[in-house]
Amino acid sequence: MTDFTMTIDGNPVSATGTFDVINPSTGGSAGQCPSGAAEDVNAAIAAAKAAFASWRWESDHTRSQACRDMARVLGEHAEELAVLLSTEQGKPLGGLGARFELGGCQAWASNTADLELPVEVVKDDNEGRIEIHRKPLGVVASITPWNWPLMIAIWHIAPAIRAGNTVVVKPSPYTPLSTLRMVEILNTVLPAGVLNVVTGPDSIGPVLTSHPDIAKVTFTGSTETGKKVMASATNTLKRLTLELGGNDAAIVLPDVEPAAVAEGIFWGAFINSGQTCACMKRLYVHDDIYDDVCSALVEFAAKIPVGDGLDEDSVLGPVQNAMQFAKVRDLVNDAKASGARVLLGGEVPEGNGYFYPLTIVADATDGMRLVDEEQFGPVLPVIRYTDIEDAVTRANASSMGLGGSVWSKDMDAAKKLALQFESGTVWINGHGGLNPNAPFGGVKQSGIGTEFGVDGLKEFTAIQTLHA
Ligand code: NDP
Repeated sequence: MTDFTMTIDGNPVSATGTFDVINPSTGGSAGQCPSGAAEDVNAAIAAAKAAFASWRWESDHTRSQACRDMARVLGEHAEELAVLLSTEQGKPLGGLGARFELGGCQAWASNTADLELPVEVVKDDNEGRIEIHRKPLGVVASITPWNWPLMIAIWHIAPAIRAGNTVVVKPSPYTPLSTLRMVEILNTVLPAGVLNVVTGPDSIGPVLTSHPDIAKVTFTGSTETGKKVMASATNTLKRLTLELGGNDAAIVLPDVEPAAVAEGIFWGAFINSGQTCACMKRLYVHDDIYDDVCSALVEFAAKIPVGDGLDEDSVLGPVQNAMQFAKVRDLVNDAKASGARVLLGGEVPEGNGYFYPLTIVADATDGMRLVDEEQFGPVLPVIRYTDIEDAVTRANASSMGLGGSVWSKDMDAAKKLALQFESGTVWINGHGGLNPNAPFGGVKQSGIGTEFGVDGLKEFTAIQTLHA
C-alpha cells in the first residue's frame, strides 16, 4: 500500500502514527493517513511564513504561470488522483464523479491563472494621483470537507497562490489521502513552503485556525463548524471566507413538462449522491403537476446504477461516511413516521459499504426534519404547493441561503421569481452548475464571502491605497 506523507516546506513528512481511512464502497481500508500533531501544524505554518517573504514579491507572471503549471501536473496525474479519490470518497470514476472532479480542478487552476487584478487609478490630475493596489495577506489556512475534497482544495489553493499568499491545507480526515498526494504533485511545480498539507486528529484544525501567523482562513464545511472557525479567528482578526451548508429549494411552476425536467431535477439533487453544498435539497412542485413530476423523477432515478466507485458501470456511489449515513437514514425514517410517502428507496440494502438507495419522498411538508434540515445525501423530499408566492416564502423560510432554482418554460416569469430567492446563487431550469468566473457564496448562515472569478481572487488580498 502507498505510504502517504504530509508535505511541509517541500519535503515529505511522516507522523509517528497513522489512522485508517475507510473506503465507503466496501467498508475496508483505503489507506493509512499520517496522524500529525500540533508541532507539524506549527512547522507547516513556519514554512509557509518563510516562503511568503519571497513569494509575495514574485511577479504577476510567475504566479500566473504557477497556476498554469498546477493545472498541467493535475492533468498529467488526473487518472491516478481520480482512482485515489474514488477509493476514499466513494464517488464513481465516470459520469459526474472522480474524473469530472479532476477536470474541475484543472479548469479552476488554469482559469485562475488568467485572472488579473490590475492597479486601479481612482484619481489622476494636477492635485495628485491615487492608486489602489491589491496585496497578498500572508499565510492562508485552507480547511476542506469530504464531499469534493480535491476540487474544493483547488478552489482555495489556486486563488490564494495566484494572489501571492502561501498556504497550509488541512483536509477532512474522511478523505485526506487524495489531497496529500495532490499537494505532493503540486509541489513539483511550486517553490518549497508555498503549499503545505497537514493531516491528523480533530485537534489540529483549531491549532491552525487560532494560530497568530495565519492571516486568513478559507473554510468549506458545515455551518456549525464554520461558526467555531469564525470564533477562533477573532483573536488575531483573521480574514475569513466561509462556504457553509445549504438547504437549497427548487420551485417547479405548473407550465413544465414533467418528463422534460425530470433529468435536470434529478441531477440537481443527486449529483455526488446529494453530498454537495449547493445541490437541491427541497423540491416544491405545483399541485397541478405534482403526481406527474413525482412519477417522472421515480422513473428516471430507478434506472441509475449505484455501486462501488471503482466499478466503471456505477453512476452514483455510496454515502461517504457512517455519520452521514446515519443522518440520512434518520431523516428519512422521521419523515416516514410523520406521514410522508416513500416512492423510491428508503430501505437500507444488505451488504458492505455505506449504500443508501436513491430515495424520493412524496407528501413531505415544511416542518418535517427532512425538509427543514440539510440531509446531504441521496434523498429528495417533494413538497406540494398551490400558491407561487407562498412557495417562495416557504423556500426562503430557512436560516440557509446558498442556492435555489426555478423550473418553467416562461423565462420572464421564472426570472422574476428567481430574483425573489434569498440565496447567493439562483438557477433557472438547472441547479448546481458552477463556472470559474461566476461568483459563488452564501447569504444568511450559508457563509461569508465569495469564491471564484475576480471577486473571489480579491478575497485573498488586502487593499493598499497609494496617494502620490
Ligand atoms: P465539518 O464542517 O465538521 O468538517 C469540515 C472540515 O472542518 C474538516 O476538515 C474538519 O476536520 C474541519 N474541522 C472540524 N472542526 C473544526 C474546528 N473546530 N476547527 C477547524 N477545523 C475544523 O463537516 P463534517 O465532516 O463533520 O460533516 C458534518 C455536516 O457538514 C454534514 O452532515 C453536512 O451536512 C455538512 N457538510 C457540508 C459541506 C459543504 O460543502 N458545505 C461539506 C461537508 C459537510 P476535523 O473533523 O478533523 O476537525
